[in-house]
Amino acid sequence: MTISTLDQEYMINVDFSFAVIGGVGFSHLDGQSQITVKTDYGTVEASIVKMEGSNLLFIPRHAGDSGHVPPHKINFRAIIMAIKQLGISRVISINSVGTMHGHPIGSMVLPYDFIDFTHKRPSTFFEDITVHADMSEPYCLQLRSLIRSILKEKGVETADVIYACTEGPRFETKAEIRMLSNYADVVGMTGVPEVVLAKEMQLCYASVCLVTNMASGIESARPTATEVLDILVSKKEFIFELLHLIAAYMPAKRDCLCNSAIEDGIL
Ligand SMILES: [Zn+2]
Repeated sequence: MTISTLDQEYMINVDFSFAVIGGVGFSHLDGQSQITVKTDYGTVEASIVKMEGSNLLFIPRHAGDSGHVPPHKINFRAIIMAIKQLGISRVISINSVGTMHGHPIGSMVLPYDFIDFTHKRPSTFFEDITVHADMSEPYCLQLRSLIRSILKEKGVETADVIYACTEGPRFETKAEIRMLSNYADVVGMTGVPEVVLAKEMQLCYASVCLVTNMASGIESARPTATEVLDILVSKKEFIFELLHLIAAYMPAKRDCLCNSAIEDGIL
């Protein structure tokens, strides 16, 4: 694989345990090696992070030349391809969500399914051939189980949720939330197509969603970007600790069906 820094290209052979895709408020980890990964879909800024004796690849989802990349402009294909190219098979994604079903602000929820309301994002790697990726378990059962048990051990209860992904960047209307709340539990703007592309690359993918706000109209809520950021910043240390524990307890072998997600879907 080719890794490039700003002024040189070189080959590396790092054995990564897993990748982390960080969201708003979780955009960098200090004191780590910065790298740029070149893919056919664009370049990705990342860092190699040591945790508990393992190497992690950390990718800030919103990083870009122009500063903070808005959700509808994130280059999801480049991010997932960078992870794939580096030979990494597991991904932990950190997302922020609004709750439609009363989850406490600051709590963590784990999606087990999603509904896609995005409409202008490149959402597949297979533009010219027909590949139907299996979406019966979009989020890796093994990773979800690991995260849930680690959080439980720390006395943190998590809810399993259905994630609705909207296009953004605006917040949803009250009518949209009324409709979405019939079918999903939380709403965000960054979970899809990230999970789909990970599945197409047959990666294990799980999302840890931090509830940052009530969705529009829930308990008369009027979401603001500031309240979202405040919650994210206040939970940064806890998420960092969670990643350490995931690194410490990551099973050596994949024990799930993620690695065969497209086997029966190719025409
Ligand atoms: Zn898996």
